[in-house]
Amino acid sequence: MGLFDSVRQIFTITGNEYRCHYCGRTFSYSVELPDLNCPYCDSADIERID
Ligand SMILES: [Zn+2]
Repeated sequence: MGLFDSVRQIFTITGNEYRCHYCGRTFSYSVELPDLNCPYCDSADIERID
């Protein structure tokens, strides 16, 4: 029960979607980091999309 809740919480926070303003690609990170860069063009100009 408690274990299931923990697992579910982990899945909930995985796969945050981001979009890069520079190259227009979307990607996801499993964790929310304060300082993210686009994995394609290395731009820091990205936004979180829900
Ligand atoms: Zn990019």
